[in-house]
Amino acid sequence: MAGVLLPVCSVFFSLLLFIVYFTKKRIKILENNMYSVMVVGTVIDSIFVSILQGIVQFEISSFSEFIIYLINKFDFALLVLICNALLFYTMLITIPKFKELFKKLIIPFLVVDGITIILIFISGLSLIHSGDNYSVAGLAANVTYILCGIYLIITILTVLFNIKKVDKRHIPVFSILGIMAFLFIIYKVNPYLIVISISLTFVNYIMFFTIENPDVNHIKELNLAKDAAEKANLAKTEFLSNMSHEIRTPLNAIVGFSECMIDSKDLKETKTFAKDIVDASNNLLEIVNGILDISKIEANKMEIIPKEYNPREVFNSLSKLVKPRIGEKPVDFKMYMSPDIPGILKGDVSKVKQIVLNILTNAAKYTDKGEIIFNINCINRTDTKTCLLYISVKDTGRGIKKDDVEKLFNKFERLEEDRNTTTEGTGLGLAITKSLTEMLGGRINVFSKYGEGSTFRVYIEQEIISMDIPEGNSEEIEIDYNAHKGKRILIVDDSKINLKVAQQILKPYNLNIVTAESGFEALDLAQNQTFDLILMDIMMPKMNGVETLRRLKEMSGFDVPVVALTADAIEGTDEKYINAGFNDYLSKPIDRYLLNKVLNKFLGSK
Ligand code: ADP
Repeated sequence: MAGVLLPVCSVFFSLLLFIVYFTKKRIKILENNMYSVMVVGTVIDSIFVSILQGIVQFEISSFSEFIIYLINKFDFALLVLICNALLFYTMLITIPKFKELFKKLIIPFLVVDGITIILIFISGLSLIHSGDNYSVAGLAANVTYILCGIYLIITILTVLFNIKKVDKRHIPVFSILGIMAFLFIIYKVNPYLIVISISLTFVNYIMFFTIENPDVNHIKELNLAKDAAEKANLAKTEFLSNMSHEIRTPLNAIVGFSECMIDSKDLKETKTFAKDIVDASNNLLEIVNGILDISKIEANKMEIIPKEYNPREVFNSLSKLVKPRIGEKPVDFKMYMSPDIPGILKGDVSKVKQIVLNILTNAAKYTDKGEIIFNINCINRTDTKTCLLYISVKDTGRGIKKDDVEKLFNKFERLEEDRNTTTEGTGLGLAITKSLTEMLGGRINVFSKYGEGSTFRVYIEQEIISMDIPEGNSEEIEIDYNAHKGKRILIVDDSKINLKVAQQILKPYNLNIVTAESGFEALDLAQNQTFDLILMDIMMPKMNGVETLRRLKEMSGFDVPVVALTADAIEGTDEKYINAGFNDYLSKPIDRYLLNKVLNKFLGSK
C-alpha cells in the first residue's frame, strides 16, 4: 500500500501548488517560464507514477504491458525536460549574462533532449517487481539517468562557481539541488523506492516559498522600479542644480549691468552696459533654448520634421550668421561648397541648421587667430535618390586635449573652465549637436590637436528632390526702416513689458502702432479702426490668440494679415499656427531680421 501512497501524495501537493501558482498574477520572465515547466512537469510525472504504481500494486493484469511501458517512457521524457528546466533556471538566476545566451542555447539543448527522448522511445525497458513496488531497468532508463545526471551536475557546478554572486534568498534552492542529487543516488541504489515525484514536488515547494512566489517577484520588481525612479530623480536634481547655476550667471550680469545703467550718467558708458545686457540676455536665451532641446531629446519628444530646402541658401545664411561671432579677431572665414550639392534637398532642415551652426559658432568662439574653413561636400546616389552631406569645420583655434575629446559631447561640460571664463557658452551645444545628428541617422566626429586647431565633421543623409539649382538664391536682408512709414499695426499682448519691447523694436520703422492688452480689446479696436497688420500673442488669459483670431475672422470684411507672436518655441509650431489660420509666425524674443521679413511680406517690400 505504501508504494502507491507517496506518488498519490505528490499528485495532491503538486496539484495544490499548480493551482496556487497559476491562479496568481505572475511576471512574464524567463525564470518563471522555466519554473512553470517544472510545476506542470511534476504534476504529470506524479500522475504517471501513481497510475503505474497502482497498476502494479493492485495487480491489474488486464492492463496491457505496452501501455505500462508507454507511460513509463513518457515519464522519462518528462524527467529529462524537468531537469533541463531546472538547469536553465539555475543559470538564469546565477549568471546575469545568461539571458542573452539563452536564445542561442535553447535550441542545442532541445536537440539533445529530443535525441534522448527518441532514444527512450525506441530502446528497451523491463519492469522489475519487488513486493508491492516495481522498478524499471534497461537502456531507456539508463539514457534518462545519464542525461538527467549530467544536467544536475552542471546545475550544481553552476551554483558552486557563482556562489559569491548569489543572493541569500537563493540558498534554499541550492540546498535542494544537493537533496535532489542525493535522492537520485538513492534511486539508483534502491530503485524500489518511488521517491522522485515526491522530491520534485518538495523542490518546487521550497522554490515557491523562497524565490518563485509571485509576491516575492513583485517585490523584486518594485524594488527595481524604485531604484530606477530614485536614479532618475537624482539625475533631475543634478540637472536642475546645474541649470540654475547656468541661468544665474547671465542673470547676475543682467541685474548687475542694469543697476549700473541706472546709476550711470554718461551716455557712452550706459551704452556699453546696455550692450553687455544684450549679450548676457542672448546667452540666457541660448541656455533656455538648449535646456528645452535637451529635455525634449531626453523625453523623446523631439520630432523629425522633413521639409524641402535649398541647401545653398541654408549654408550661405549660416556662414553669414557666424561672421559676426568672429568680430574683430584676425580670423579668416572661408566657405567651400561642392558644385555637386543638389538644388533642392528634403530633410529636417532646422536640425541640420542647428547642428552646423553649433559647430561653426564653436569654431568662431574658440579661434583667436588664423582661419576657419567651412567645407560642404556630398556624395549623391541616383539609385536611392539620396545625398550624403559631409560637412567639415576646420579651425586654427586652441584645439582640444586628447583626454578631453571624450568629455566634449557631455551635457554642461565645458573644457578648461579657467580659459573659458571670457567665452560665453553653456556646455550644452555639442551634447545637443550629437543627439540631433544621431537622430537624423548621421555621425559626428572630431580631430583636434591641442594648441593647433580642431576639425569637426558631420555626415548626414538627405533626400534629393531636384538636382537643378533654383535661381536667385540667398539675398542679404538689408533693413530699410522707411519702407513702411505710417502703416498701422496692432500689437496684442497681455504683458505690458512685451508690448513695450515690441513697440521699441518697431520704433525705427515709424509705424503707427496701436496696442491691445487682451483679445476683447483687440476685437473692439479691429471693429472700429483699420489696420495693415496685427501681431497677436497666443497665451493670453480669458481669450487666447487662436480664439481671438477666430472671432476676428468672423467679422464681415476682415482681411488683415495676422501674425502669431509666441514664446512657444517648439519645432513644428509654425505649421501649427498656420493651420490655425495665422498668416505667419514669429517667436519671442523677436528676431529683428525675421520681423523685418514679416513686415516686408505683409506690408509690401520696396
Ligand atoms: P559651449 O557652450 O561651452 O561652447 P559646447 O558643448 O558647444 O559648449 O562645447 C563644449 C566645450 O568644448 C567648450 O566649452 C570648449 O571648451 C570645447 N570646444 C568646442 N568646440 C571647440 C573648438 N572648435 N575648438 C576648441 N574647443 C572647442
